[in-house]
Amino acid sequence: MRISEFISDFGYLNIRICFFMIIKKLVVGQLQTNCYVLISGATAAVIDPGDEAQKIAETIAGTGAVVEYIINTHNHFDHVGGNAELKSKFGAKILIHGRDAGGRIFADVPLKEGDILDIGDDRLRVIETPGHTAGSVCLSGADFVISGDTLFADGFGRTDLPGGSNSDMAMSLEKIDRVIPEGVTVYPGHGDIFKYRKGMALAWLDYLG
Ligand SMILES: [Zn+2]
Repeated sequence: MRISEFISDFGYLNIRICFFMIIKKLVVGQLQTNCYVLISGATAAVIDPGDEAQKIAETIAGTGAVVEYIINTHNHFDHVGGNAELKSKFGAKILIHGRDAGGRIFADVPLKEGDILDIGDDRLRVIETPGHTAGSVCLSGADFVISGDTLFADGFGRTDLPGGSNSDMAMSLEKIDRVIPEGVTVYPGHGDIFKYRKGMALAWLDYLG
């Protein structure tokens, strides 16, 4: 559980805004994908349910929250594999970037840069970060970022699959470093959760020619 608190002081008037979002990490499937269940108030969202939909559903059922959204950071099977089963179970909307939707990848709501998603009392902002796929996104919250397969603790997502691009990835890593503040918690699509330090994403540019 994470609790973050922002305090603004306007003279004698003390305004305190509390963000309260619970983020549960579940590692699912053969490629050990990180699926995240976000809960704010009575509302839940599932990020990247790549596999093991039953396990994810049980985790959510235990919280009593209502699932409004299934959000995919991109369209690879290890991130979307559980979409259909969870949608039929919870009636939630599937959200994925428009460029990664189509064919067998279904979107109720195609995402784009700057979209704001309300989840209970919290909000996620969509940041387009193409490179791993053409429609890869990061999702920015109050003091955290969900980075999909764009940025990991020890590297960046591969660019040699369909829709991948070295030059797009380089621009996305530069963008991440511009827009992500120092110290936010990064929840990647695989591997360990980590704290962002300025310059971290730029360290990989040399590998992208
Ligand atoms: Zn991927």
